[in-house]
Amino acid sequence: MARRETPAAGPGSRALIVDVVRSAVTISRGELADLTGLTQPSISNIVRDLIADGIIHEIGSAGSAHGRPRKLIAINPGNRFGVGFHLGPDTVTCVAIDLTGGVVGREVVPRLPDEIWPAERLAARFEDFTECLDLSRDRVEGLAIVAPASAPELSELRPELMERIGVPVLVENDAAAAALGEFWSRRVSRDQSFASVYLSTGIGAGLVFGGALFRGANSGAGELGHMSIRFDGRPCPCGSLGCVQQYASTSATVKAAREDPELRARLPLDGTESSAYDAIARAAVNGDPAACAVLEQAADYLGMAVTSMVNVLDLGRLVLTGPGVALAGSVYARRLRAHLGRTAHSRQRHGLSVELSAQPRDAASIGAAVLVVQAAVAPGHTG
Ligand SMILES: [Zn+2]
Repeated sequence: MARRETPAAGPGSRALIVDVVRSAVTISRGELADLTGLTQPSISNIVRDLIADGIIHEIGSAGSAHGRPRKLIAINPGNRFGVGFHLGPDTVTCVAIDLTGGVVGREVVPRLPDEIWPAERLAARFEDFTECLDLSRDRVEGLAIVAPASAPELSELRPELMERIGVPVLVENDAAAAALGEFWSRRVSRDQSFASVYLSTGIGAGLVFGGALFRGANSGAGELGHMSIRFDGRPCPCGSLGCVQQYASTSATVKAAREDPELRARLPLDGTESSAYDAIARAAVNGDPAACAVLEQAADYLGMAVTSMVNVLDLGRLVLTGPGVALAGSVYARRLRAHLGRTAHSRQRHGLSVELSAQPRDAASIGAAVLVVQAAVAPGHTG
């Protein structure tokens, strides 16, 4: 196996090793040396520390070409946990994960639309949730709270919340967190240029390069929804025209369906926006041609913006996630794959996989918990 230039063993080496072990599932120290370019003594030292810290464990041995059995190591899942809260439009989704990204607990509690919870209330929720899962405080690495486009009030209440619950508190936007969650739980290699598209009432993207979330100047990266697909298109509150969010968000899709008299007569579209969207998605997967057409139109608009993002960043792997793909994700995946297959600049040079999230409704809360885990076991990736 080709060695890269030998990196000096430092704090980054620990993150590198955690990343490589995580994406390999099981690996020997020798293979780690080959894959990272670190020397055997560095590997041995770092692995010993990681075992002592309970992050990695030995899981037996496998035969090798030279006859000597190789001891295999893997991420130790059950030792430490991360907790994530996702503030949705009218719910708070609470998730706890182990170090491999496996969900060990989940709870959804209602909140009034756009109601701001003070630190005291968030702290009480955290206490309740960890207590009912029987997670002792010394095994919880922290809490991350995610919301659409990092709500500024969250950053303000962070110090008080941290004081109340006694563990680190992180704040991030939901689309970015969802990308990190998919990156971690799918065991994506840190060598891949990875992105996810979060489809909801807005559209966000999360970008993971070299194993780290790309945040831009101030955690504002990934505003895919405001990529214009028509220079004289629909006005957007952001000040621009033709933003893809005005055409392909779940809100835009519900609006388009409500304007179709036939669909309006056939489907229950008068309730909340999310229940109307789910009715359209359900009808589309059940073969309703008009419902399917509305979603395909949205998917094609989305495809325009996603192709531009793929081209600018030369992405290799893309995951679709968020409540917008929970019921009819296959419609989006199919259209996006076809569109990218015709238009992506890199299509002659390398593949681009378009995948669907396994837990699209929980992706942001799982991602929040992963943020905590990553900051604890592979520091150096988080700002
Ligand atoms: Zn806009």
